[in-house]
Amino acid sequence: MLPPFRVHDATGSHVRTIDRSAAMIVLKFGGTSVGTAAKVADAAAIVERQPLPRAVVVSAAGGVTNLLLEAANAAASGDDELVADTVAKIHAKHAAIVAGIASPDEQARANAVLDQLHAALDGLIGEVRAVGEVSKRASDAIVSTGEKAMSAIVAASLRARGTDAVHVFADSVLATDDRFGNARPDRERTRVQAEAFLRPYLDAGTTVVLTGFIGGAPDGSTTTLGRGGSDYSATLLGAALSATEVQIWTDVPGVLSADPRKVLDARVIPVISYDEAQELAHFGAKVLHPRTIRPAVALDIPVRILSTFAPAEPGTLVTRHAAGDHIKAVTSITGLMLLSIDVPELEDLAGAAGAVFSQLSVDRVEIVHASQASSRRRMTYLVDGAVSGSCAATVGRLEEPLADFEADVTCADDVAIVAAVGEGAASKPAALGRMLAVLDRAGIPVLASSQQTSNVALVVAVPGRFAQRAVDVVHEAFVGSQPASASGRRPRRADMLREPLRVG
Ligand code: ADP
Ligand code: ASP
Ligand code: MG
Repeated sequence: MLPPFRVHDATGSHVRTIDRSAAMIVLKFGGTSVGTAAKVADAAAIVERQPLPRAVVVSAAGGVTNLLLEAANAAASGDDELVADTVAKIHAKHAAIVAGIASPDEQARANAVLDQLHAALDGLIGEVRAVGEVSKRASDAIVSTGEKAMSAIVAASLRARGTDAVHVFADSVLATDDRFGNARPDRERTRVQAEAFLRPYLDAGTTVVLTGFIGGAPDGSTTTLGRGGSDYSATLLGAALSATEVQIWTDVPGVLSADPRKVLDARVIPVISYDEAQELAHFGAKVLHPRTIRPAVALDIPVRILSTFAPAEPGTLVTRHAAGDHIKAVTSITGLMLLSIDVPELEDLAGAAGAVFSQLSVDRVEIVHASQASSRRRMTYLVDGAVSGSCAATVGRLEEPLADFEADVTCADDVAIVAAVGEGAASKPAALGRMLAVLDRAGIPVLASSQQTSNVALVVAVPGRFAQRAVDVVHEAFVGSQPASASGRRPRRADMLREPLRVG
């Protein structure tokens, strides 16, 4: 009989022991971690170190999602030369990775799938060219090519190394609604489909390699979960399969106290609570898609964030409880609008709030933060500018719903939120005062502030151009002052960021 599986076997740091018969690991690899032939080989080796049964969720190779969107937009504007150029880049990227698969037979199998996907892509792009616009539905079908290609490549790479593996396109497993571009999952249907389509492979000891990011609408068409959505796919599929652990393998060695690309002395947070991770992701830490943690919470599934560039680092464990009452991380989210609504009578506040919420909901605009000061009969909303457009457009759309309230609406574009996250610390009454004092000393104007009722985050809104400086000074004050041992390991910066800054 095999000995119990020690979680984190490969790193030497033993965190937890799982009975092998009970373990079920989901591993997710992001775009940089499958961006080259060498990285795909590294990912395959990481997969093989985990016990069976195991499922793998993959993103498109780094940059491919953006290239697919570029191709779609070029087709809509009739720029055939740009379409051909962009599609050629996608083919070349896939070909370079397939060339690294260690068996000619498996290269041929991967190429057969790629040929089909690339032909389907040509067809979809032709349709966009004909109608002259990219619908969200067409966009989702087009971008799914990246994840579908990678699932076939990774499965072939595993088989070439002697590991039994199949690829599965998640549009037949991960059930969603039909909000193309930002679909919501149907957990029940996903569980049924996962049992039907995946369980037989898992029971047979076959590694299942699934596409991240994509799902299937009730009518069977392909949807996506929003940019960066492969993390969310991993926990949704993990929950559907009752996984014992979900591992997010990426290009940084865990969740850090700030984005290491922006804050030089950011450090790894060894353990973080579900609530803290959700707040960080919600307020802009790209390392996790904002909705990633939700499916794990209900089933208490531990989520681990690990680096394919430094696989021996212990990473970050996200779990129900996390020790400490200090601020663990500082993050920011830019490109927001600050919408303030004043009503003359206190009695009108709830009605006006209702009108605003329902209009934003119709427009599918997410409210990143809301607060209300009853005494001043004022409500303040921070909303995503990328979805809602400019202040002028949003205020215009609110005119009619607010007509009965004599409301005074003001709006500022290009606003950022800076959030300092840490359970316990954020509930200390003095903490927000300290944060405001730090910002004031640095000469940073604060447009709004709040200490959330959840007590997990201190939140301030600042003009966008001050966001970076605000993160720097708040990080320095709250995290930089803590001894490194209390707040996390600090691997060499060179180990943290092997890649230059990239987009997509
Ligand atoms: P993947 O392609 O693996 O999904 P992403 O680029 O989506 O990777 O997410 C990882 C990136 O998130 C890192 O390279 C880093 O720049 C960024 N990031 C932002 N905030 C944080 C944070 N607090 N901790 C770690 N990484 C962060
Ligand atoms: N490939 C998709 C994106 O670039 C999904 C992901 O990487 O998680 O947004
Ligand atoms: Mg990501």
